[in-house]
Amino acid sequence: MILNGKGAAPGIAVGRVFVYTKIGFLPQESFVPEGEEQSHLDRYLAVKKEAFGELEGLKLSMQKHDPQKADIFTAHQEIIEDIVINEEIPSRILNEKWAGDWAIYQVYETVLLVLQKAADPLIAERAADFDNVRALLLRLWYGNKNEGLSSLTEPVIIAAQDLLPSDTASLDRSKALALLTEKGGLTSHTAIIARSYGIPTVMGVHGLLDAVKQGQLAVVNADEGEVILDPENEVAAEYRKKYELFSRDRQDAQTYLSKQAITADGEKIDIGLNISAVTDDELAASANVDSVGLFRTEFLYIGRDTLPDEEEQISAYKKVLERFGECPVILRTLDIGGDKQLSCMDLPREENPFLGNRALRFCFSNPDIFKTQIRAALRASVYGNMWLMFPMVNSIDDIRRAKEIIASVKEELEKEGKPFGQFKTGIMIEIPSIALLADFAAQEVDFASIGSNDLCQYLCAADRMNIEVEPYYQSYHPAMFTLIKKITAVFEKNGKPVSICGELASDPLAIPALVGLGLRKLSMGTASVAAAKRALCSLTVKQSQEIAQKVLECSTAEEVKRILGTINS
Ligand code: PEP
Ligand code: MG
Repeated sequence: MILNGKGAAPGIAVGRVFVYTKIGFLPQESFVPEGEEQSHLDRYLAVKKEAFGELEGLKLSMQKHDPQKADIFTAHQEIIEDIVINEEIPSRILNEKWAGDWAIYQVYETVLLVLQKAADPLIAERAADFDNVRALLLRLWYGNKNEGLSSLTEPVIIAAQDLLPSDTASLDRSKALALLTEKGGLTSHTAIIARSYGIPTVMGVHGLLDAVKQGQLAVVNADEGEVILDPENEVAAEYRKKYELFSRDRQDAQTYLSKQAITADGEKIDIGLNISAVTDDELAASANVDSVGLFRTEFLYIGRDTLPDEEEQISAYKKVLERFGECPVILRTLDIGGDKQLSCMDLPREENPFLGNRALRFCFSNPDIFKTQIRAALRASVYGNMWLMFPMVNSIDDIRRAKEIIASVKEELEKEGKPFGQFKTGIMIEIPSIALLADFAAQEVDFASIGSNDLCQYLCAADRMNIEVEPYYQSYHPAMFTLIKKITAVFEKNGKPVSICGELASDPLAIPALVGLGLRKLSMGTASVAAAKRALCSLTVKQSQEIAQKVLECSTAEEVKRILGTINS
């Protein structure tokens, strides 16, 4: 059986499937075949018992370290035994023929909706408990004992409805042959992490979870966005060969890894590194790059029960700054919201999270969290060459407001006698409004970095997470290149450094155009560095300018694609 999706990170894999279900899993509406009602009901009762037992185990282990948390599990056990729910689910299965997973999902959903609308915040908060219990029941329903992807024991192809950045970030990458998801956009943070780990990934695979079975053999051709289940022997053999070709090409690119990125006519292009976690794996690339072009600090905050305090942040930032010595480290302040959520804070659900209280806006509305981070960043700046950058800047007011907060933190630290070093202050240009005001912005800041992922999302009005609108999310939209040219020219005119740190910067096809538009600093995930350097070394600036000129004359993304060489004309 062949399934199709969109290739989000290139590569080939052949292996066994691990079906990953998790919190937030969304079953499809489905019904039990005639005569199988009782077996679905029995399975629900068994799952309920298992869930109760799992909570008991958690409760006992937690009682020693954190008795308050143990109470949460008692509350969850009570929800599992809730009388109304336990009348409703069996009734839906037996009388209305709802499949067990659908019945669990829907019955809990009804309760959740009522709770969420409650005026009393304490009652509304209970919704999260019901949500957690539902996720637990569904996970067990699908036979998944292990909640996390960090505890995989052998290399597998991971199939999931959707993955959160916290799932991917905690992934043991040596155990992930490939990632397959039903949802998720190509510049979602999951896709970005997958690319930076070099894991072949196909997203938007319709019907994936209905089709795959735990342990099934599969072939993944992420270059073509194709998944073949139970391949014939010859097909598996053919893909093993393709895998070898892919590996050879990767090895060829690897020969450029430690070289400088110097164009064929001698122009040095700076390569920055995009990092999320402060792990040795991520930092290992420091020898092959010129800077950290984007430190996504939000990954220090996600997937944990408490916020990182000032000291913890200082030690993380210090580690990166020291590793990079005199080379710049662009530390981006907390960019939470959108597809990156905090489990340590119960944030209100938003209708349009990417247009909501995200990133800098979130920081403005949570001044304590923001100030703690700025304090930590400033105090860590004594250990290296820190450049502080604000995400999601929409106006000159945003910049001024953020700078005022920096000034007040400086004053605070001075009063406390806590030292801080020299640092630059800059912004991400990822909202079209600020791109159009680049002239004014350049006078307010020391540098800028173009966030092409969000710039494309906001310019094309296409949700980067939603694979259904992926055809509208056009990284090669001519307007993208027009804006990039404007931003680059303005910052150059003002004598201020400008770089690009979105996924476009690591696309070997787009790189010539970016250089031609004037960019001399590209920042990317570690797995993209070698191929980007290969693309840069085989190019002259003159050629790149010619390509850029042609791109600027295009009226459609398709034409741009053709010029960049993705379509052989
Ligand atoms: C971007 O938007 O291009 C960017 C680099 O930031 P993020 O992908 O983390 O939103
Ligand atoms: Mg962004």
